[in-house]
Amino acid sequence: MPFADAAVLLAPLAPWFDSLRRPMPWRAADLDAPHPDPYAVLVSEIMLQQTQVATVIPYFRRWMERFPGPAALAAATEDEIHGLWAGLGYYRRARNLQAAAAAIAADGFPRTLEGLLALPGLGPYTAAAVAAQAFQLPTPALDGNAFRVAARVLALEEDPRRHAGALREWLAPALAAHGPSRLTQAVMELGATVCVPAPRCASCPLQGACAARARGIQHRIPPAQPRTKVTEAEIHLAAIASGGAWLLRPPGAKGLLAGLWSWPWTGAAADTQGAAEPASAYGIEAREPAGWTQVYSHRREAVRPIVARVEPGAAPPGLEWVPEARLASLPMGRRDQRLREAVDAPGEPLTVAGLEALQAILQGVKASSPAAPAPGRS
Ligand code: SF4
Repeated sequence: MPFADAAVLLAPLAPWFDSLRRPMPWRAADLDAPHPDPYAVLVSEIMLQQTQVATVIPYFRRWMERFPGPAALAAATEDEIHGLWAGLGYYRRARNLQAAAAAIAADGFPRTLEGLLALPGLGPYTAAAVAAQAFQLPTPALDGNAFRVAARVLALEEDPRRHAGALREWLAPALAAHGPSRLTQAVMELGATVCVPAPRCASCPLQGACAARARGIQHRIPPAQPRTKVTEAEIHLAAIASGGAWLLRPPGAKGLLAGLWSWPWTGAAADTQGAAEPASAYGIEAREPAGWTQVYSHRREAVRPIVARVEPGAAPPGLEWVPEARLASLPMGRRDQRLREAVDAPGEPLTVAGLEALQAILQGVKASSPAAPAPGRS
């Protein structure tokens, strides 16, 4: 599909960004030169994947202080990395970042899009964003914000992701004309602050060039995505101690919870409130602290926590007894961190359903991993 010349349409973005850009600790002062610290750009872009700018800034500062370059990060322990990443979510990004740092420490920083794409954790968007900002390559980086801006400027009424290739071709000459780093960041900034889902066209530098605004259709571009179906679940999540150790599921190598330890859990049985038959008859002392709802992108989990102490025994398949002293430093997802913080909390007496859940876990019950949350960048 023929698009109007991007270098002309987007020209007002360059001076707008030069004068109004928000300060961010990873942004270079000189937008026309290669970035003095490509590693800082890489760290910021990995942290910004699915996390908002305001959240990332303090994490970025602490990270760069502790790991100022790829070699320092490559040599870090898992506990150190987890300590600095905890709370950002999607812990797999931290592991990918360390793997990328190790590759860079060994072989140098790749300075081509293909080389960047070969680093762990860099998809087409992140690789293009790093190439443009770190090395001034005219590689268009299309994330949700950039797709929205482009679709509106061109009055593209279909899902712009279906035209990703054509939009990259369209944008590349504009990057070359106005500076790859400057224009990449300008498009991101416009999408984050002005051309937001409810656009503020009156303060937009592109208002005279925007085809969607001219036709009054900017509010319905891009078209709404079909709603994701959210499943509901109720689980018992159990912190089980015995002989100075906690029973935990060690991290898997793949999947959404790769690199994270988790408490054993099992689906909640039909609610059986009231006092359980004496758990002590089974060698169990237990209580049920207050529960909560854990929200993920595709799943809402009603979590019913249990804290229990049991008589020593072999760990069920897939679980391990982990010394209590290690618990605080283990990398965990948010749900499991929350139970870690509640292991000393008071609770109600164990219910029959809770007792059955504990017995199921101790006898070895397989539990699958939930989906992870997906906050957006802005
Ligand atoms: S004029 Fe409005 S719709 Fe068009 S790019 Fe600017 S903010 Fe977005």
